Amino acid sequence: MAEKGACFCGTVTFEVSGDAQVQGICHCTDCTTWAGAPVNAFSLFPADAVKVTGGEDNIGTYNKTPGSGRKFCKTCGGHIFTDHPEMGMVDVYHNGVPGLTHNPSVHVFYAEKTLAIKDGLPKFKDMPSEFGGSGDTLPE
Ligand SMILES: [Zn+2]
Ligand SMILES: [Zn+2]
Repeated sequence: MAEKGACFCGTVTFEVSGDAQVQGICHCTDCTTWAGAPVNAFSLFPADAVKVTGGEDNIGTYNKTPGSGRKFCKTCGGHIFTDHPEMGMVDVYHNGVPGLTHNPSVHVFYAEKTLAIKDGLPKFKDMPSEFGGSGDTLPE
């Protein structure tokens, strides 16, 4: 089953199929300054699970780092998703896909947090080791 997503103005549309490999809350400085928000609720899907269905030529990409191609709509500036080619994953932003359930299991880059969230979930200093991080955790 595919869930439909769109940018803020609706010009760019996309679909996400299957289940996210991992969902969580990212506190990294790149996500939070790009979003202008204290956290980013992410859902990582395999790259082939995300398909653009409309407005593809209206998508802009900003690469601050080679590992993250941040996609936005050229009309409204709304964030669409972020490619992580080195991981073969796409980070879908929860609120861009109304039908997507977000059940976070981890917090990542908690060392960079600007907002503490005391929800009892593991707080990784950077990333879990299976995603190339240190695997170190921090107190809430
Ligand atoms: Zn738009
Ligand atoms: Zn981040």
